[in-house]
Amino acid sequence: DCVVYWMRMEDMRIRDNRALALASAQALKAGVPLLVLFVLSPQDFIAHDRSSRRIDFTLRNLRCIRDDLAKLNIPLHTVSHVSRKKIPGAVHDLLLQWNASHLFGNIEYEVDELRRDIALCELAQVHGKVACIFLHDKCIVPPGDVRTKDGRGYTVYSPFLRVWAPVLEKASSHHLDEAPLPQANDRSVHNHVTFGSLFKTEVPKEVEGYGLSVEDQARISTFWPAGEDAADQMLYRFLNTAARSTQFGAVDPLSKGASEADPTKKSRLAKYKDARDRMDADTTSRLSPYLAAGVISARACVREALKASGKKKLDVSRDTGVGRWIQELAWRDFYTHIVALFPRVSMGRPFQEKYADVQWETNPEHLQAWKDGRTGVPIVDAAMRQARTMGWMHNRARMIAAMYLVKDLMIDWRLGEKYFMETLIDGDLASNNGGWQWSASTGVDPAPYFRIFNPYTQSQKTDPGGEYIRHFVPELSKVRGPEVHNPPAGVADKLGYPRPLVDHKEARERAIRRYKNIGAK
Ligand code: FAD
Repeated sequence: DCVVYWMRMEDMRIRDNRALALASAQALKAGVPLLVLFVLSPQDFIAHDRSSRRIDFTLRNLRCIRDDLAKLNIPLHTVSHVSRKKIPGAVHDLLLQWNASHLFGNIEYEVDELRRDIALCELAQVHGKVACIFLHDKCIVPPGDVRTKDGRGYTVYSPFLRVWAPVLEKASSHHLDEAPLPQANDRSVHNHVTFGSLFKTEVPKEVEGYGLSVEDQARISTFWPAGEDAADQMLYRFLNTAARSTQFGAVDPLSKGASEADPTKKSRLAKYKDARDRMDADTTSRLSPYLAAGVISARACVREALKASGKKKLDVSRDTGVGRWIQELAWRDFYTHIVALFPRVSMGRPFQEKYADVQWETNPEHLQAWKDGRTGVPIVDAAMRQARTMGWMHNRARMIAAMYLVKDLMIDWRLGEKYFMETLIDGDLASNNGGWQWSASTGVDPAPYFRIFNPYTQSQKTDPGGEYIRHFVPELSKVRGPEVHNPPAGVADKLGYPRPLVDHKEARERAIRRYKNIGAK
């Protein structure tokens, strides 16, 4: 007999994990061992456009988890399953083989994942052997708990936040409570005859088709070390240390000195309100890969941020660093709630259905130039090259690059959404889709279609000295002064840097015309 916790790609941690904590409590109560299951499904990876970097990160985290669980005598069983449709049946078979009484998991809100879990619950019900329990864990406030007076979900962020914060603050709310650590199994479990022969504790070195080159593997794992301790260090770095002005990710963020607090300087958190949009400085937390894979809980981020800033009460004010940062975590909740409440957004549909018919350009050369960071607009190219180099982008970089693809090149936002998922290490359907539909003006609470970023103005505001551009676009590294934001044709030609693919002013007018046509229908 045993109790099983099914860990997924979005909750890869042992600390502060609701389903794992409850599974452990159940195992303790019943006096049976706790086992952990992980299913690697290449078809899932294809369906979600998962990047090789994310899969590599998953495997690296899985190894950390296996080792940490082993210290608690909790075995981790990893299976690779090709057919995603057959996963519920395969998991149920395993549960029967192990004679499991209970299965616990944290909910994944994407439509296929919900269907998968429902199929498993139905199978378990028919056979009547295993109780399946799925819990809310990803969000700080779970989907369904932030409602309008007539019981509906919010589709605009500000009113959402006005209800989200009081729900979190309610005295009776346990949303920020830390889930207890799992208890260790009895020592004999590891050597148990039944489990011993059935268990596959080896984590594969790579998943076929998702390998990284040796060079990419080394670089990405330096930027994004795996494991809960690394995530905690990243959080510590943000909460307690100051940004060095010209550091924007060219070095390992955990390298020398990065995690040592300097009491003479204001921390990144304290400066976040004013400095968060600066692309030329490393001012944000860089926790998105860890939050997307669940290596750290969003609850822990809020608890620690409040503690570090000496706050006894929740702060979501626009006027403080901590308040502003918690607002960003609330955006993450907001977009996840949207995916849970409006499944069409995870099916490639625009949230605002009327924009399903925008007239897009089909231009493979332009799309490729955007991916390669060779559009001739330096800030866009720096952003796209940051994605290739680090598997991560600054939020402003994402907004500028996304808006440029959709409004300047007039290319379908879904192609950009897919490319980000395939390239970034923190790809998260809800936040990525939310960001893209914001930029495309098709989403919940989007940028109005006529408010189109001027990439050159954005460049001057967010990278005033041009350091970010010079770093990521080496052709321009020797261009001094403001010319770096928009090099004259002669300079660009000499340096082998491309001329702009389109004229921004004309492109802007074209986009407004096409969106307006739809609006008039
Ligand atoms: P911080 O500024 O330190 O913020 C802390 C955390 O809050 C982030 O780690 C993230 O979990 C959350 N957060 C911050 N901003 C947002 C936001 N706008 N929407 C939702 N959550 C937010 N974020 C992802 O995690 N995965 C994605 O795939 C993703 N795709 C995006 C695509 C586009 C087109 C845009 C405009 C934004 C996207 N974002 C995505 C949101 C945001 O850009 C990143 O979360 C952020 O840049 C990560 O850096 P950070 O961890 O230093 O953020």
